[in-house]
This record gives sequence, C-alpha cells and structure tokens, in this order.
Amino acid sequence: MRLQGQSAIVTGAAMGIGQAIARAFAREGAAVAIADLDRGQAEAAAAAMAREYGATSMGLAMDVTDESSVEAGVAAVAAAFGGVDILVNNAGIQHIAALDQLAFSDWKRVLAVHLDGAFLATRACLRLMYAAKHGGCILFLGSVHSKTASVLKAPYTAAKHGVLGLCRAVAKEGAPHGVRSNVICPGFVRTQLVAKQIPEQAVLRNMTEDEVVATMLKDTLDGQFTAAEEVAETAVFLAAQKSLALTGQSIMVSHGWLME
Ligand code: NAD
Repeated sequence: MRLQGQSAIVTGAAMGIGQAIARAFAREGAAVAIADLDRGQAEAAAAAMAREYGATSMGLAMDVTDESSVEAGVAAVAAAFGGVDILVNNAGIQHIAALDQLAFSDWKRVLAVHLDGAFLATRACLRLMYAAKHGGCILFLGSVHSKTASVLKAPYTAAKHGVLGLCRAVAKEGAPHGVRSNVICPGFVRTQLVAKQIPEQAVLRNMTEDEVVATMLKDTLDGQFTAAEEVAETAVFLAAQKSLALTGQSIMVSHGWLME
C-alpha cells in the first residue's frame, strides 16, 4: 500500500495506459479519479477499481483541452477527496501523416491534447497543492518520442518533446512547494492508440502490418511490446517517492529501445 492516504487524478484513464496506472494506484491504496472524455466509460472504469480493490474512486467527464472542463473536474475531485496529491497527465492522441500532407488542424489537435491539456491540468492541481502546503507529484506521459523522432509522427514528436520542457519547468517552480515533476517515457504499448496506427502506417509506408510491428520493436532488446502494467509500476514508484531527489527527470520504459 505505497500510496495509502493519497488522492490522484489520472487523465485519459478510461482505457489503455491511464487505466493501468489508475488501477495500480487504487491497488496501492490511493483514492483515484478517472478523468476522460466519456463520463460513462470513466465511471465504469472507476467502479471496476472500487470492486476489485475496495478503492475510493470516481469517474468524471473531462476534456483536457477545455479550460473550464479541466477547472470544474479538478475542483470536483478536490471536493470529493479533500485535495489532490498526484496528477498524471496521461490523455493523449496520435495522428499519422507525412509532414507535407499534415493539416494544420491535425497539428493543432495533437499539440492541444498533449500540451494544452497537460498545462491546464497541471496548473489547476498546482494551485491546490501550493495552497494545501503538503507537496505533491505531477507525472507526465512522455514517450520514446520525447527524445527521438519517427517518420509520420511530427506533431506527436513535437508534443512529447514539449512535455519534457513543461515537466522541467514544473520541477523548478514546484520544488519550493515540495511538488515533484517527472516524465515517464514508454516504448510501444499495444493500446488502442497503437492498434489504430499499425494499419495506417502500413498504407502510408507500403508495408504489411507485420512489417510495421517488426519496425516498431526492432530496437527493443527482447522484441517485446512494453506492457501498460510496466508503465504503471513506474508511475507508482515515482508517485511514492518521499523527497525531491527525483524531480525534473524522465525515465525510459521501453525494453531497452532507447537508452537516455
Ligand atoms: P489510448 O488511446 O489507449 O487512451 C488514451 C485515452 O485518452 C483515451 O481514454 C481517450 O479517451 C483519452 N483522451 C483523448 N483525448 C482526450 C481529451 N481531450 N481529454 C481527456 N481524455 C482524452 O492511449 P494510450 O496508448 O493508453 O496512451 C496514453 C498516453 O501514453 C498518451 O499520452 C500517449 O501518448 C502515451 N504513450 C503511449 C504509448 C503507446 O505505445 N501506447 C507510448 C508512449 C507514450
């Protein structure tokens, strides 16, 4: 029970990596809020965690790109749980296109979810954490694409590099308030976000889907996808830290794909 007595918000947690992180937090004794676009899906995920772990949990509708939605959602969680100790900026989308074919609207949509979303949720939680005066933990989902690039992923790569900068700024400003800020950088995890891009990449790169998967895993040391649970374990480790020893850092969870 490494997170006993803590309260957490995980954005985009109705499925995928966010859901795995929220489940691991619930297992470790945290009260968990699952914030996602669809209220029904978020509430269903929260109810499952309450059943499985006896956890205090809530699901709420939040569009992280919408300032009033984020403000209202964070306020609702703070009211229900008596504050927020941990925020995980997990909500994310992918868009596969070559740069010369990339619509400005798609560029902006990807940056908005990853960067505007992380900024808005972080600002709302920092205000609560500073006022409560007992520190806090902000986690960001970066990616291997926070430190390297792949073809057809310009907006995602730019956004994930941006997340690193935001994390470091939060680490500097948050430190006097006891707030830690770190980035988790997973390799490919077989979630809906990845399942959708495999056929899209196959068409645009004139490859079979098996060849796309082989390309995705070619630099790992064991040919394996990263598991959502492996990412979640890293989130628990970072959330459970007691000091500022680990802040402003990024951790690769990529089966050795990238060593930085
Ligand atoms: P996913 O598609 O399985 O889940 C993403 C979730 O975010 C969904 O529940 C979706 O509804 C939600 N979401 C999307 N836009 C939102 C918005 N505007 N407001 C609130 N919620 C929103 O994706 P995933 O693979 O679990 O990815 C989670 C995070 O991990 C993302 O930030 C992603 O970039 C990052 N990541 C994923 C991988 C991977 O290989 N899957 C690798 C590295 C990093």
